Amino acid sequence: MSAHGSRKKWRAGVLGATGMVGQRFVKLLADHPWFELTAVAASERSTGKTYAEAARWHLEGPVPEVARDLVVKDLDPSLDCDFVFSALDSSVAGEAEEVFARAGYPVVSNSRNHRMDPDVPLLIPEVNAAHLNAIPAQQKNRKYHSGFIVTNPNCSTAGLVLVLKPLADAFGLEKLFVVTLQAVSGAGYPGVASMDALGNVIPFISGEEEKMEAEPQKLLGKWDGNRFIDAGLGISAHCNRVSVIDGHTECVSVRLKKTATISEVREALRNFEVSEELASLPTAVKRPVVVLDESDRPQPRKDANTGHGMAAVVGRVRECPLLDVKLTLLSHNLVRGAAGAALLNAELLAARGLLKSRQATSTPAVEEVSR
Ligand code: NAP
Repeated sequence: MSAHGSRKKWRAGVLGATGMVGQRFVKLLADHPWFELTAVAASERSTGKTYAEAARWHLEGPVPEVARDLVVKDLDPSLDCDFVFSALDSSVAGEAEEVFARAGYPVVSNSRNHRMDPDVPLLIPEVNAAHLNAIPAQQKNRKYHSGFIVTNPNCSTAGLVLVLKPLADAFGLEKLFVVTLQAVSGAGYPGVASMDALGNVIPFISGEEEKMEAEPQKLLGKWDGNRFIDAGLGISAHCNRVSVIDGHTECVSVRLKKTATISEVREALRNFEVSEELASLPTAVKRPVVVLDESDRPQPRKDANTGHGMAAVVGRVRECPLLDVKLTLLSHNLVRGAAGAALLNAELLAARGLLKSRQATSTPAVEEVSR
């Protein structure tokens, strides 16, 4: 980030700040080197209260000081910030995000509503940073001036595609079969009733299999200057909810385009390293895929926080008698699959000069930072 030198922090707002993902944003923003939390918004239930009163806090430690006394606002696009993260419930996210983008705010969304729009980047910086080139087309199509929408994928797609990327680059991908074991925190709060979740497996998560079969096509595809071209993969997904708190596990079988040995596959995963531009982003990890050799790993309790929750952890790489290769992967659904993913997206936008200071509506204390 030396190209950007020293400047004030960008002021970030969080829409849906009181929810499971919103709280992760608040916590990750509490001591972020480039961003400062200056605004929070949520539903009628919360507006007018301080954040500490409105949020039923689920994370370790107290509500961060920076958020405690912020008054929760409604979804009027007059928040005191330069850009917004969206962790809104999907029943309201679609329209609210458009309203904010039209009012000039960059919107870094975690909700599903705009992910598959033909002019909205669905972004994993390590996978398809070039998709940001769609932003000018989006602004032109929608008559947005300085605002725009960028999204991150569904929580189970995020870990999967991070692991598929080095395989796609090295060998090409033809088709894959994936079975998920997804944590209960993926359903928000209060989420799945304890009488349904405890000691049980629920073999259905509404809309999840459709997202897992569609989103990788866009993520691993290309922006050709006018539109996104799908990767054209065959994908079959089975999604299950299991009584794990955090961390989605996925058992994946893949058919490669080029023949590869198991040790070549393992090496391709192990050697996956991000560019210097990405490595300089505060939330990035240099090697976002971690391969374990132990035969009983990865496990959610032991491995979900690998790389501060931003790595995908792979184990059990072996031959598949039906396709070519099979493996087990794990990623943190609320970090890599939600708030951490959006934070990394915003950092890339900042690094590429796509976040601008908006006129302050009050006078927040912005400290000078050297980056
Ligand atoms: P959640 O815990 O239910 O939180 C929803 C948030 O939306 C709360 O802040 C809530 O505010 C706000 N909200 C609800 N209705 C509203 C309205 N009418 N007007 C304004 N705000 C409203 O859900 P979550 O798990 O954090 O998920 C948030 C979004 O991220 C969803 O779109 C979800 O699909 C997506 N997502 C979640 C995960 C995950 O692992 N949990 C992963 C990836 C993506 P109040 O507290 O005031 O009601």
